[in-house]
Amino acid sequence: MRRINCQGSMKVELSVWDKQEAESEDASEGTMLHQSVSDSSLDSTLNIEQLSAVEKAREIVEFWQNKKPVSETLYETKVSLTRNGVVVSDGTVDCLIVYEDGNAAIIDFKFGRILVGDSIDNIQLAAYALMAKMTFPAITGNVSVQIVQPRVSNGISEPYEYSDFKSLTESIFSIITECNDDSAPLKIGEWCKYCRGNQMMACPLYTQEKMELIKAPIETLPAIELWTDNQIVEWKAKVSDLKKFTEGTVDAELKERILKNGECGGYILKGRAGKRNVNDIMALFSLCEQHGFTDEEFLSKFCSIKIGELETALSKRLIEKASSSGVKLKSGDAKTMAKEKLDAYFYNDPSIKVLDLEN
Ligand code: SF4
Repeated sequence: MRRINCQGSMKVELSVWDKQEAESEDASEGTMLHQSVSDSSLDSTLNIEQLSAVEKAREIVEFWQNKKPVSETLYETKVSLTRNGVVVSDGTVDCLIVYEDGNAAIIDFKFGRILVGDSIDNIQLAAYALMAKMTFPAITGNVSVQIVQPRVSNGISEPYEYSDFKSLTESIFSIITECNDDSAPLKIGEWCKYCRGNQMMACPLYTQEKMELIKAPIETLPAIELWTDNQIVEWKAKVSDLKKFTEGTVDAELKERILKNGECGGYILKGRAGKRNVNDIMALFSLCEQHGFTDEEFLSKFCSIKIGELETALSKRLIEKASSSGVKLKSGDAKTMAKEKLDAYFYNDPSIKVLDLEN
């Protein structure tokens, strides 16, 4: 999608390919959830909402696996596009199921909360279908592609099946040719989010847009209480955009310069003592007892309960218990049961108002 909308992005990304990427929080969570789909040992590191999203993704994989006899299921597998034996592009497919009859299915997991387009319009998946066919000789037939967004309601796109690989090869190579053109245009849009050009300040257009925010003529605006609703909302978006840009890009570059030169404009990297942890809770409890603290004082004054984590842990226990009796308990149901069991033990502070969007 990025290559279609912003043909110049290929060159921009290649220019910073070797630079270390300052991985955004969204991107690192996405990586963890992708890994968890195929590795249930990571379940204990997920919160209940993340576990529920991962389970939905696993259900779709199972659905495709149960369609017909499978020869192999591969996760996070590299596929490449070659011309005359030379690799011209490559990518990583989230899940590739190869059937014994030579057909295959590709499932693309997106753990974001914004609905992306349909499988049929997704050029990235079209390229993956072609690359999978080129990479795995066992794929002799058609390749179905499907986008799965477990965190979005109705986030399962209609699958699309590629069968005409001759036309697909022509169109993918024509896109690559356009992208390789020195005059390939840049275009800003939602596809910039995961582009390395935006993360590394390598894209002149994106950088310019962010710089415009900084020099925006705030002094020409009236006093803030006279702003229209539109102005308030527009500035809310600008400020959060600018914050992301500063933290993700400027801070990363600042750190890199300090690591290279020892400092940058007075900034240095300063060590901070790590968090103190209790190494023997019972010994600590005894010490407090010796000094006259009661059990209740010890627990209520010096210990804190992570209610969310307790709820998650209890949900998982319920799932394990059900599973040992041969019952499959869904994470959503387990969460509800855990919440019901724990509700009586907690009370809520008065509610506070927080900013949120209507939808
Ligand atoms: S940041 Fe956006 S405009 Fe710039 S190269 Fe990437 S996709 Fe294109």
